[in-house]
Amino acid sequence: MANPKKKHTRMRTDLRRSANWRITAPPSSKCSNCGAPSRPHHVCPECGFYGGELLIPRKIKKKEEGQPPQA
Ligand SMILES: [Zn+2]
Repeated sequence: MANPKKKHTRMRTDLRRSANWRITAPPSSKCSNCGAPSRPHHVCPECGFYGGELLIPRKIKKKEEGQPPQA
């Protein structure tokens, strides 16, 4: 079996382990109805729209921005 010839220092091990600790932000998109940032393929957390349909009625804070496009 392959065997390391020399012991790695703790610094080297810690540097390798700490290289991938940053989590990346999930891909974001804008709601087609209200323009709020929302996750793709998910119902908008602000207005409850998905695919141009009101799936989950939400309490709308701002009346002008939250109105459905058709009505
Ligand atoms: Zn929305």
